[in-house]
Amino acid sequence: MVFFVGAGPGAADLITVRGKSLLEQADVVIYAGSLVNPELLSYTKSGCAIYNSAHMTLQEVTDTLCKAETDGLMSVRLHTGDPSIYGAIREQMDILKARNIPYTCVPGVSSFCGAAAALQAEYTLPGVSQTVILTRMAGRTQVPEKESLARLAAHQATMVLFLSAGQMEAVQAELLAGGYPAETPAAIVYKATWPDQQIIRTTVGCLAAAGAENGIQKTALLLVGNFLGDEYDYSLLYDAGFTHGYRQGKSE
Ligand code: SAH
Repeated sequence: MVFFVGAGPGAADLITVRGKSLLEQADVVIYAGSLVNPELLSYTKSGCAIYNSAHMTLQEVTDTLCKAETDGLMSVRLHTGDPSIYGAIREQMDILKARNIPYTCVPGVSSFCGAAAALQAEYTLPGVSQTVILTRMAGRTQVPEKESLARLAAHQATMVLFLSAGQMEAVQAELLAGGYPAETPAAIVYKATWPDQQIIRTTVGCLAAAGAENGIQKTALLLVGNFLGDEYDYSLLYDAGFTHGYRQGKSE
């Protein structure tokens, strides 16, 4: 069996209990060396074969997983954050499926959740935004035109940008062109939950300058929206006067 496991955003104790237990049992681990905390590899048993996928092609990764299966071994494919977000797992799963190799996915804490924790923020504030857009700036990987940053920006919802820290000038220009006012709060979170985490609070209009000042080019999320501001409404769920399935509201 092959397990696609989310490693969490960085801190080694932010992997799930299930993910850790699978790492402890694994005979083969292929981890995304560019972003997975190597401390997680200390959970593996002695004799576990460990590969860094940063140096491997898709074919090498899937061949290694297939060989492990043929040899009757259990493997973990360890992806950063949650594997479903920019994890390139679909192609691996489809190749395994074509070769009749069984696999299972184990979720992880995505970096966008790690960044919210670092910022002590709530993405979905009543009266501000009830939508989180997870996206990226087009780079060598294209983004469909209907999802261009400027178009998404028109919603002025909470936005989290992955894989875009190297292009902050362009991000800023698209966000402004799309409709976020320049004074909209923004943040850059570098290496969320790692020991060298950095948090930079800024505005959409100053985003690129803030990134340049702090020398941030990669391993960062850009977060945009009034969820980073001070105004919002309290949730109805805990409002004394609000009745729902589990509680009778009291009138004043
Ligand atoms: N599957 C991952 C995302 C992989 S894409 C997840 O769920 O988090 C890689 C991008 O994720 C990086 O370019 C960066 O934008 C972001 N990223 C990953 N880990 C991060 C962290 N600890 N702090 C900030 N950004 C991170």
